[in-house]
Amino acid sequence: MSGFRGAEYCWMNGEVMKTERALVSAMEPIYLGIFEGIRAYVEGDVLGEGELNIFRWKGHIDRLWRSAEVCGLKIPYTKEEMLEGTRESIRANGFRTTTYIQPRIWPRARGPGGSTADGEVHVVIPTMLLQTRLGEEELTRERRLMVSSWRRVASDALPPQAKAWANYANSGQAGREARRLGFDDAIMLDNRGFVSEATGACLMTVRDGTVITPPVTASILESVTRDALLKYIPEDLGIPVDVRDITRVELYASDEVFLCGTGAEVRPITSVDDVRFGEEYPGPITKEIARYHSEILACNVEKRRDWLTPV
Ligand code: PMP
Repeated sequence: MSGFRGAEYCWMNGEVMKTERALVSAMEPIYLGIFEGIRAYVEGDVLGEGELNIFRWKGHIDRLWRSAEVCGLKIPYTKEEMLEGTRESIRANGFRTTTYIQPRIWPRARGPGGSTADGEVHVVIPTMLLQTRLGEEELTRERRLMVSSWRRVASDALPPQAKAWANYANSGQAGREARRLGFDDAIMLDNRGFVSEATGACLMTVRDGTVITPPVTASILESVTRDALLKYIPEDLGIPVDVRDITRVELYASDEVFLCGTGAEVRPITSVDDVRFGEEYPGPITKEIARYHSEILACNVEKRRDWLTPV
């Protein structure tokens, strides 16, 4: 099935089943749903093939529970059952390279109109192969971003800190605008005019040797990857970090800019609004972080092994 390369099986409402059998009515209110985006990496070498470990399972599953709370959904499984379901889904597919895991939860429809939820939910755990972009070629590829004319959804309109599908209508507007104008992706400002994040990843800048990233109050998703970087960049790499609001002008004046997230991993950005950053691309700090990030994901950093959960 397109977008689910090789995913013959998924886990749905308590059992592993063929993805083609994981069907629901077209009347289901899927737009009221929440989800997670998680990755499992190959032990020893992220670009290789072998045993998989899930990166920061706990951070992701805790966020799923918080998203459910905010969006009024009750998950009828324990976190341990969700982990087992994820393992079963991956094993059934026989995956042995980087895998993306996307637990999805949405209310079941009540009545033929299907627009009102009845408190019961569907829980599906699709898994799919998704190659890591932490190889040399992807790390040196140029990426031009623009500041979107669409503001990031405000926290008094929708819950940006939750991973709710509804928020992605906002990302979709910004992403489509960027591609229409020939850019690779968009950076959204928050409703106050400060830098928020990209359409599916958080943003970090480097200025004078300090890594700077917007606070949670800038309407960002509370990213699990960002949280990991904020810990290991100062503690393991000795590079100072600063969590504070960033203005658009400061963004232009950055030495380096990169995105971080489950999908984005550590992804260097060449320019924003065609203002190019720094003298080298990717910049030295971005390269160091990306290299260290792959070592953590491959389970090669003893101190950070507890961020990885075996499949
Ligand atoms: N912001 C948005 C809007 C996202 O979709 C993602 C990807 N989940 C992120 C940030 C990064 O979050 P995480 O590190 O938890 O994947």
